[in-house]
Amino acid sequence: MKVTYLCPHCRSAINADNNIILSAKCSKNNRGLILLHEEIGNYTSTHSSTLQVEDGDTVDFFCPVCHESLNVPFKDNLARYTRVDEDLKESFIIISRKYGEKITFKVSDKKKVESYGEKISRFIDPDWFLVK
Ligand SMILES: [Zn+2]
Repeated sequence: MKVTYLCPHCRSAINADNNIILSAKCSKNNRGLILLHEEIGNYTSTHSSTLQVEDGDTVDFFCPVCHESLNVPFKDNLARYTRVDEDLKESFIIISRKYGEKITFKVSDKKKVESYGEKISRFIDPDWFLVK
């Protein structure tokens, strides 16, 4: 079975054809879809033509199915969604909301944190990833 990414709210699958598809908003009239490569650590991304985004812009992420926010509450510049591995183990994937910032964390249900991409020291405490 392949890896599946889920919206943590409605649990709809949000990946297709090696891409994770997220609804994105930079400002009121600047919205569209962002496609992220589903392989952790691969920062290839693309976006739809109605979204204008540059490196360093902060993006609000939403589930493309139920439109709930995927931003991590009370924590700046992070978003998260759920990953289900081939062996059906679930984890949270945490990404930066700053476009172009190449960081990813994978947090298991046992709070084991794996970090990928750039090492950024402001993200060191695993507890706050799991804020409800
Ligand atoms: Zn959803």
